[in-house]
Amino acid sequence: MALNVIMMGPPGAGKGTQAGRFARERGLLKISTGDILREGVKAQLPEALHAKERMDRGELVDDETMVAIVRERLLRPDAQRGFVLDGFPRTVVQANALDQIVAERNNGPLVIVDVRVPEHELVRRLAGRLICAKCGANAELTKDGSPVATVCGKCGGELVQRADDNEEVVRERLEVYERETKPLVEFYQERPTFRVVNGAQPQERVAHELDTVIDDAALVSAKVEKAVTGKVATPEKAART
Ligand SMILES: [Zn+2]
Repeated sequence: MALNVIMMGPPGAGKGTQAGRFARERGLLKISTGDILREGVKAQLPEALHAKERMDRGELVDDETMVAIVRERLLRPDAQRGFVLDGFPRTVVQANALDQIVAERNNGPLVIVDVRVPEHELVRRLAGRLICAKCGANAELTKDGSPVATVCGKCGGELVQRADDNEEVVRERLEVYERETKPLVEFYQERPTFRVVNGAQPQERVAHELDTVIDDAALVSAKVEKAVTGKVATPEKAART
């Protein structure tokens, strides 16, 4: 059975790294809205260019654009084993749309993980962050937050400070994130498959906690499913099999 994961958390929480690792280890498709948008910008797609303009101003991309981009991606064959979403959904409108897409696919539980980190730690992490001007990868940092190398470890490109990474802009971004995702957390938090992970610990500890809670949530979901289908053997279900 497929496994579908939403990785939530503010910018700087490290959820992108964790999403990539988890997807690799479990053979799932990692879908980062950042990557999808970058590909779109390279291909000069109008929707992606529109989205990038808004992001450069520190704003969020509108629901309709994001849902269209993500829906198309999730319905492709290589997403059928399951996925790890990073950066989507951001709003309740997007979350409702995703529920519909997951119901259409009818394949595996939807596990929601919220990676949490205190704001002062996020500001410290974000305000010094460098990215590759060529491929967009994050610069690898030492424990004290300084870059390991002067050029990109992946492609050799020049490392530059992100356009939106001075401290004031960082705080503004975090505030926007808080405001916009609070209703989303409320939307998900009563579900048996919603989990919180402490992102303010070393990466391998975060990874371990994440693996544990996702497996547990998937198990809980399977039990709920079994209990429900055991009780109600609906005629529609019988007709389908
Ligand atoms: Zn690079």
